[in-house]
Amino acid sequence: GLPAAESLQAALALIDTEARALFGQGKVADYIPALAQVQPRQFGMAVALVDGSTYQVGDAHTPFSLQSITKLFTFVLALKAIGDDVWKRVGREPSGAAFNSMVQLETEHGIPRNPFINAGALVITDILTTRYAHLDYALLGALRRLTDDPELSWNAAVAKSERDTAHRNMAMAYFMKSHGNFANPPELVLDNYCRQCATEMNCTQLAQATMFLANGGRDLGRDGRPDEQFLSADDARRVNALLLTCGAYDAAGDFAYRIGLPVKTGVGGGIVAIAPGVGTIAVWAPELDAKGNSVLGAFALERLVQLTGWNHT
Ligand code: GLU
Repeated sequence: GLPAAESLQAALALIDTEARALFGQGKVADYIPALAQVQPRQFGMAVALVDGSTYQVGDAHTPFSLQSITKLFTFVLALKAIGDDVWKRVGREPSGAAFNSMVQLETEHGIPRNPFINAGALVITDILTTRYAHLDYALLGALRRLTDDPELSWNAAVAKSERDTAHRNMAMAYFMKSHGNFANPPELVLDNYCRQCATEMNCTQLAQATMFLANGGRDLGRDGRPDEQFLSADDARRVNALLLTCGAYDAAGDFAYRIGLPVKTGVGGGIVAIAPGVGTIAVWAPELDAKGNSVLGAFALERLVQLTGWNHT
């Protein structure tokens, strides 16, 4: 069953206090100047339950750079567009390697391990670039609907900074092209990919935007908008399985051990977790560990599942 509102709000207040004691243990992403400028000591958390209620604590209304969390949304769009054909282009096994690793691409003939590492997400964006003449608007349109925020967008400075330094991602795109696993010009796909990564949301919006994954594929309507079957229930279950096994780069095993929920992390310091049948949890704190995952974010999720019992294991 769902927890009582007061006990959930009390749990969030406790986690907020405990998490803030951990400030200073990680390091803000500094691979592009636009992200290196983010103030490190911030922490926000939001929970959205399948009954439509939401709970927040800390900096839950401050927008942050979604970065790799967008890989979840682009993958869902690709699955909706071409279904099981995605598996001709990308695998579904954990990589056990860094998010931007190239080494498996060579031994595995240009087929990335999964859609949630950079190489796999580039293939997904290639699929979407073929499918949509105006991909920016297809993706933003979906995200604006899921958040009910018509202003939702990407940060142009972050996108440009990312694009100016996208050498490694470009190399992976060309390498996959040499294996016939890339249809469009890498430059064009990288333009799209860098804008996607720069999309901004706050914790409350991120929790609401992923509600369909906790709710059998069904997004909850708000402000008079009706509910919508955004993804089939079968596909929602499959996406959650991929998030559990591949959602935290080479720390997916550690996350499953500590948290036991499907998650997606990003170097902006955000993490979204799905508790199927219960709700979604979005957490943001920009200080990262050595594998690029939010230190306070992982701690907060671990504490929440301890306090609520929301996990699969
Ligand atoms: N934009 C980042 C990259 O492609 C995303 C990495 C991440 O969030 O893990 O390098």
